[in-house]
Amino acid sequence: MGRIRVLSDIVANKIAAGEVVERPASAVKELLENSLDAGSSRVRVEAEAGGRRLIRITDDGHGMLRDDALLAFERHATSKLADVHDLLQIATLGFRGEALPSIASVSRLTLETRSPEETTGTTVEIAGGRIVRCEESALAAGTVITVRDLFYNVPARKKFLRTEQTELAHIASLVTHYSLAYPAKSFELRHNGAELLSVTAVSTLRDRVFQVFGSQTLEELIDLGLTEREFAGDEDEGSPQRTYALRGFVSRPQVQKSNRNSIYVFVNGRLIRDRLLLHALSAAYHQIIPPNAYPFALLFLDCSVAEVDVNVHPSKTEVRFRRGTFAHDFVRDAIKGALNAARPVSSLPLPASPPQQPAAQLPFSEFTQKLENFAYEQQQQPPQPLQPTAAEPVIALRQPALFTPPAPDVTIAPPVPAALMQPGSRQRRIPDTHGPLPPGLAAEPAASLDALRNLHPLGQLHDSFIIAASADGLWIIDQHVAHERILFEKVLRQMALGQVERQSLLMPILLELTAAQQVECERISADLEAVGFEIEPFGPRTIAVKAAPADVSTGEVGRVIFEILEIADQEMRQTSFADIRHDMAASIACRAAIKINNPLDPRRMQWLLDELAATQFPMSCPHGRPIALRYPTREILKGFHRI
Ligand code: ADP
Ligand code: MG
Repeated sequence: MGRIRVLSDIVANKIAAGEVVERPASAVKELLENSLDAGSSRVRVEAEAGGRRLIRITDDGHGMLRDDALLAFERHATSKLADVHDLLQIATLGFRGEALPSIASVSRLTLETRSPEETTGTTVEIAGGRIVRCEESALAAGTVITVRDLFYNVPARKKFLRTEQTELAHIASLVTHYSLAYPAKSFELRHNGAELLSVTAVSTLRDRVFQVFGSQTLEELIDLGLTEREFAGDEDEGSPQRTYALRGFVSRPQVQKSNRNSIYVFVNGRLIRDRLLLHALSAAYHQIIPPNAYPFALLFLDCSVAEVDVNVHPSKTEVRFRRGTFAHDFVRDAIKGALNAARPVSSLPLPASPPQQPAAQLPFSEFTQKLENFAYEQQQQPPQPLQPTAAEPVIALRQPALFTPPAPDVTIAPPVPAALMQPGSRQRRIPDTHGPLPPGLAAEPAASLDALRNLHPLGQLHDSFIIAASADGLWIIDQHVAHERILFEKVLRQMALGQVERQSLLMPILLELTAAQQVECERISADLEAVGFEIEPFGPRTIAVKAAPADVSTGEVGRVIFEILEIADQEMRQTSFADIRHDMAASIACRAAIKINNPLDPRRMQWLLDELAATQFPMSCPHGRPIALRYPTREILKGFHRI
C-alpha cells in the first residue's frame, strides 16, 4: 500500500488555522471582516483574558440561512465567490472560505445566527472542529460568534501567545483601525466587561478620527482630502473604474514616530501591509522627517477591484497591484502635495546642501530588502542597534547647519568607540531632534575623560554648544545632550532609591487616549508612578495627570506621557519589559533638558560642565549620541604647522 494519505478535514483545517489564526487578534480580524461583509451597521467585539478565554462578535448583518449555518464550517465554503473568474474581482473582505473552519478547529465555537428572511435562527456548537450541537433557536436577526478557549487543543501555539495585555493591545489596535475604515458603522470593544472603544456611526472619516483619537491628535494631522489619478492604457483589460483614489490623514512633520506602528494602510477597505505603499509613504516624507523616523498615517486607497490581487496570503494582509509603479507614484505624490501645502515655511529650514539628490533616497530594492523580515506583526524582533549615520545624508530639520567643516588638513580623531556607549544600553531608533553631527569633528575617546573635570567655559556657539578649554584642547559640548545625560542619571538614581522628586500640578492635565494607549497606560501604571507621575482615570477615554516628575515642565507633560506609552507599546511587542524604566528616564531627560538655541550665562555653563563631569557616562546621551567633541591641543598645533 502506498504511503500517501489524504488528510482528514479536521487535520487540514488545523493546518490552515496555523496560517489564518496566529493569535486572538487574527481570529477577531476574520470575524470582524465577516461581519462587515454581511453588511452589518453595528459590530460589537467582546474579549476576555486578551481573547484567549473568549472572543465574541455580535453583528446586525444579514445572518445565515439555516442550511448555510453548518455549511459555513466546511472547508472552502463561501458565499462570496462562485467561480474562478470571481477571484479577479474580489469586492468582499473574505473569499477563501477558510476562516470559520480554521477557527472552529482550534477552539470551542458557538454560532448563533438568523437571517431576516427566516423566523427562527440556528445555533451551532463546535469543539476542536467537531460538531457538538446544531439546533433551531429563537434569535435576533444577525450573527453572534463566540470563540472560547482559543488554541486549547494546540498547546504549541498557545505557548507562543504573549501576555493578556499584549494580545489585547493587538485586538484593540485592530478594532480601532477597522472602525476608522468604516465611519458609517458603529463599533464597540469591551474587555473583561470594560468598554475600550465605542463609536457611533458618523458621516465623515474626519469625525471618526476625532471620535477615536480626540482633538489633540487631529490637530497634528493633515487631511489628505480626496485625490484621484486616472491611469492610461490597457483599454481592453476590463478595469471599469480607471482611477485610483486616496483619502486619509498623515501627520505633520513635527510628529515623528520611532516605529511603523502608527501607519495603517487600507486598500479597498482592507487593512493590509504593503511594501510598495510603505515605500511611497516614506518617499513622500523624504527630506521632511529624518530617515529613521516614521509618520503617523491612515491611508485609504481605493481602486477598481480588478486592479489588486488580494489572493496573495492566507491572512489576506498583502496585495499585489496590477499597476504597482502607478499606485506607488500616485500615493507618494498625493501625500507629498498635501505635506507641501500644509507646511509652514519658517519652521522647517531646508538644507542648503545637498539639495534634492535623488540618490539620497533609499532605492526601492534596498528598501524592500530592509523590510524583508517585516511581517504584519513587525515588532517580533529585538530592536536594531542604532547605526552610525555619518555616511547617510543627514538633514538639519530643527536648526540650520551650525558648522562648516574644518580645513581638510586638520587631522581627525577616530569616531567614538562603541565601548563608550553606555554598557548594556539598548539604543533606540528615535527621531533625531539634535541635528546632524558636524562633519570632521571627532567624538571624544576615553583617554581624556578626566580632562572633563577641568573644563572652563569660554562661551556658546549659536546659543547651543558650549565652547570650553582645558589643558588638553578645545571642547565643544552639546548643551542639550549634556543636560539630558545629567537628568537621565538623576532620574534613574532617584527611581532606584524610590525617592523621585515630583511636582503636583495646579490644574490636572487631561489627556485623551486611544483604546490601545489606554491599555498600555494601565499596564505600566506602576512604572509611571515610580517615575513620578500621578495619573487617574477621567471619563471613558481620558486620564488626568495630577503630578509629574519635577524636571518636566507642565507644557511637556503630555508629550512625555505619549512618548512613554509609545515606547512601552513598542517594547511590549518586542522582548522583555526590563528596560521600560530606563527608557522612561531617557524620555523625561530628553524633554526636560535645556534646549539648544538657549543662551546660558557663564555660571550655568560651569554648573552644567561640573554636573556632566560627575555623571557616570559623560560621553554619550541615553540614546547613544555624543555629548562632547574635542580638538586635542596636538591637532591644533599640527593644524598651525607648529609641530
Ligand atoms: P469567507 O469569509 O472567506 O467566505 P469564512 O469561513 O470566513 O469564509 O465564512 C464562511 C461563510 O460564512 C461566509 O462566506 C458567509 O457566507 C458566512 N458568514 C460568516 N460570518 C458571517 C456573519 N457574521 N454574517 C453572515 N454570514 C457570515
Ligand atoms: Mg471570512
